[in-house]
Amino acid sequence: MGSLATLFAPERVAVVGASDEEGSVGHAVTRNLLEHFAGSVVAVNPNQEAVLGLSCYDSLSEADAVDVAVVAVPPAVAVDVVREAGEVGVENVVVITAGFSEAGSEGAARERDLVAIAEEYDLNLVGPNSLGVMSTGVGLNATFAPTHPTSGSVSFMSQSGAFVTAVLDWAADRSLGFKDVVSLGNKAVLDEGDFVREWGDDPDTDVILGYLEDVADGRAFLEAAGEVTRETPVVLVKSGRTDAGASAAASHTGAIAGSDRAYEAGFRQAGVLRVETVQELFDAAAILAGQPLPDAEAVAIVTNAGGPGVLTTDAVGDTDLELASFADATLDRLDAELPEGANVYNPVDIIGDAPVERFETATDIVLGDPNVGMAVVLACPTATLSFSDLADAVVRQQETHGTPLAAVLMGGRSTQSAADRLAAAGVPTYFDPSRAVRSLETLAEYARVRERPPAEPTAFEVDRERARAVLDRARDRGADRLGVEAMDLLEAYGIPTPDGEVVDDPAAAERVAERLGDEVVMKVVSPDILHKSDIGGVEVGVPSGEVRQTFETLVARARRYQPDARVLGVQVQELLDTDAGTETIVGVTRDPQFGPLVMFGLGGIFVEVLEDTTFRVAPVGERDARAMLEEIDAAPLLHGARGREPVDTDALAEVIGRISQLATDFPAIAELDINPVLATAEGATAVDLRLTLEEEP
Ligand code: ADP
Ligand code: MG
Repeated sequence: MGSLATLFAPERVAVVGASDEEGSVGHAVTRNLLEHFAGSVVAVNPNQEAVLGLSCYDSLSEADAVDVAVVAVPPAVAVDVVREAGEVGVENVVVITAGFSEAGSEGAARERDLVAIAEEYDLNLVGPNSLGVMSTGVGLNATFAPTHPTSGSVSFMSQSGAFVTAVLDWAADRSLGFKDVVSLGNKAVLDEGDFVREWGDDPDTDVILGYLEDVADGRAFLEAAGEVTRETPVVLVKSGRTDAGASAAASHTGAIAGSDRAYEAGFRQAGVLRVETVQELFDAAAILAGQPLPDAEAVAIVTNAGGPGVLTTDAVGDTDLELASFADATLDRLDAELPEGANVYNPVDIIGDAPVERFETATDIVLGDPNVGMAVVLACPTATLSFSDLADAVVRQQETHGTPLAAVLMGGRSTQSAADRLAAAGVPTYFDPSRAVRSLETLAEYARVRERPPAEPTAFEVDRERARAVLDRARDRGADRLGVEAMDLLEAYGIPTPDGEVVDDPAAAERVAERLGDEVVMKVVSPDILHKSDIGGVEVGVPSGEVRQTFETLVARARRYQPDARVLGVQVQELLDTDAGTETIVGVTRDPQFGPLVMFGLGGIFVEVLEDTTFRVAPVGERDARAMLEEIDAAPLLHGARGREPVDTDALAEVIGRISQLATDFPAIAELDINPVLATAEGATAVDLRLTLEEEP
């Protein structure tokens, strides 16, 4: 695949299947091109003399120097047309024709042919089943959409063609301008990763937006997005968030991970901003395209109405942002400038009779405060206020201070011209204060993405051969489910485990127990028992005198509660002081799109009840391992809540990194749980293990 530069900036575009028939796709595409395109348009149709005043060529081979061929012919001939494009040296092909993988097995076979041809000729192929592509840079509109976008710095890709037309129509009224637009169609060749990369290199694209239903190649996308988001924000709506498909998982990690967790994790790792609604997608686009990034996350609010000011304050509380507390000098100045009855503390209430001058003075003072990173200027209509003058004042203040701003104009028709004026200057306006705050939060989120260190993968020294031997031995036994008998695997990867042994008779249990201290932990070992404590298969704090008896009891319980379970023996393990630490879980599962996923969370026997977990796509470097520790709700427990000692987070992050490496090195590990990883002030210890093996893929 070559660069996509000529796809979006061609000089000569051919429509294969151009048509004079009103209402046909070939007609709409040709008309759109003729209406907007700065370059030349070629019509190809062997059955027509001329289309919309262009004389028709019989085939692509007769038209030379075509940069982009738009294919709008029936599916049965589309593949041949694409081959011909390849043969005559056309680099970019946009296949609008439908009837491929979305249409049964015959269509799927046709799509495979298309992919093979694209590979053979190194074609940049968009679609099939695409609405087409647009680029305002050269007035390219190679689509059958009814609307042509205004020019701007947002580039947009959509997996749904219908969504493209809806969005363009909607954006037309909201002064949101586009650079490139692409309807991805079936993504047979070019997919979201390719466009993210292209737009990341495009100096005219400031914001990348996408509507996705899935990601074709998860890892390629993450790699592209991870690089691009360091320079250009990528905001995505990914539909299909609620996924009911709870698989028959043999681990906590597998049970908790749905496919959406993988997207969530991958997007976060790559710095992609994920939004949930179409409204948020375009709010994010408008503010990212129009406003600078904040250098602090504290928000100032200036309002002429108390109630809405409080609503805005609440909205700040619902985000990760905080309400700015003003420096004394700011308070003094506000006090001197504002009338009796005004509130100088944030949210600053300049009261209902405020004219524009008072708005401007107060805004100027708070934007000058070093603690203020962003601001919301909120106005309700009053007799003393001209909204359009206010718009001018806000724009002036924005330019003077360079602080990101959002405006809330709580009115209807009377706000329209002010909103237009602000939008033209890049200041977004809203009716609802919570939307304004959410948009500012998006800016702050992106600022964090820009500031974070790059995700360097960490390579730990491990004994890979020893780990391989453990897995090979299991496979030779025909075992696909392993438990604590495979603790060696963790040791080989440098993960601390308690001292212990699996034994198969009471006398041996006693011998091991003697070596391990006055009291030990004993666990039944069986590939068929998923969660040992559920059947009374774990005894914690067994005194030496009771080891023999406990051996018999554990085996008997296993036989009683799960008569068909194969019992391999009993593990006798060193007793750890669990009260001195926090039980966490580190796990692995595999996602069809993204590969190994690593989970971290609050551990113990209630993992699936609490679901306080977070995921990353492996490899998980130190930056992300540390971020995972902070993302769970129980993070304060790790930092020593309620007088406890803070745990060794370095050690915990290292366990995550080492498990990520294990999962990457051994694709045969389908699922893995270490629950608990006991985190204490001294370190992190893997106390239990469960894993499922699959055939090497
Ligand atoms: P399972 O998860 O199959 O029920 P575990 O080995 O995780 O079995 O043990 C269950 C619980 O018992 C752990 O969450 C922990 O609270 C406690 N436990 C297990 N091993 C030890 C140990 N070596 N020292 C102290 N407590 C332990
Ligand atoms: Mg466990």
